[in-house]
Amino acid sequence: MSLKEILQKNHFTFQKRFGQNFLTDANLLASIVEKAGIGGEDVVLEVGCGGGTLTAAISDRAKRVIGFEIDRNLEPVLNETLKGRDNVEIYFRDVMKIPTGELETLAGGAYAVVANLPYYITTPVLMKFLEEGERVSSVTVTVQEEVADRLCARPGTPEYGAVTVAVNAAGSAEKVMRIGRNCFYPVPNVDSAVVKISVDREKYTPAVRQAVRSVVRAAFQSRRKTLVNNLMQAFRLSRAQAEEGVRDAGLDVLCRGETLGVEEYVRLAGILSERGYL
Ligand code: SAM
Repeated sequence: MSLKEILQKNHFTFQKRFGQNFLTDANLLASIVEKAGIGGEDVVLEVGCGGGTLTAAISDRAKRVIGFEIDRNLEPVLNETLKGRDNVEIYFRDVMKIPTGELETLAGGAYAVVANLPYYITTPVLMKFLEEGERVSSVTVTVQEEVADRLCARPGTPEYGAVTVAVNAAGSAEKVMRIGRNCFYPVPNVDSAVVKISVDREKYTPAVRQAVRSVVRAAFQSRRKTLVNNLMQAFRLSRAQAEEGVRDAGLDVLCRGETLGVEEYVRLAGILSERGYL
């Protein structure tokens, strides 16, 4: 029986507020899991199982899938679509309300995240794993194409933002596939893309990541302001303190946050942190 038939049989009604647009093409789903690089030793966390089609594709390749779904109305559907798969566990919970430490305990070691993300929590979910996940090895997400472009943006472009720096502080991102809107059920208004973020926890220590995070937050507070002005406001610095910090990091005092690459943020955060400004 097809997913559409199973949904109908269970009188399921789509909830727009949960970003419910499901993928049904088995070949497409298999290639998402392949692009995510999932193999037989991997434990995978999936955010938003929906009708379980991606869950099943992950389960075909992974050692174990731990899925989270906010909508309990999907329980009878998932019971049917995932029947007999003994490497799948589903929790009917809002993933944003589960502390990252608890998720990592469930995973029991290194894990990958694979998700077709609900659009309304795309950035918070990404930030959760990229900033707080200590054992996450990769995050492969299907997102609106515009978001995919932001995740992979270069400094100095309009798409470059705080989330791009968070991605680069955690590892590196690559757009691995485009998915036209017609592949979703129901059909949304925009096309999507799959982005794979490979996480490298050796890249920076947790302390450096934390310092970068607060400087980035400050730097993107107001895109119209210069970096110096944003730093002054966020950390209550005098103009002289902010300008000296920026200059000592080898940056122009008139630059804006969106022109800095992650290495420059690391340098600046190091200087501001040494001086006790953060
Ligand atoms: N994985 C399925 C697929 O690819 O067809 C469904 C993807 S759909 C875009 C997103 C799913 O996330 C929906 O089933 C929605 O109910 C669920 N969801 C939304 N917010 C959530 C949250 N905070 N925690 C867990 N699941 C959530």
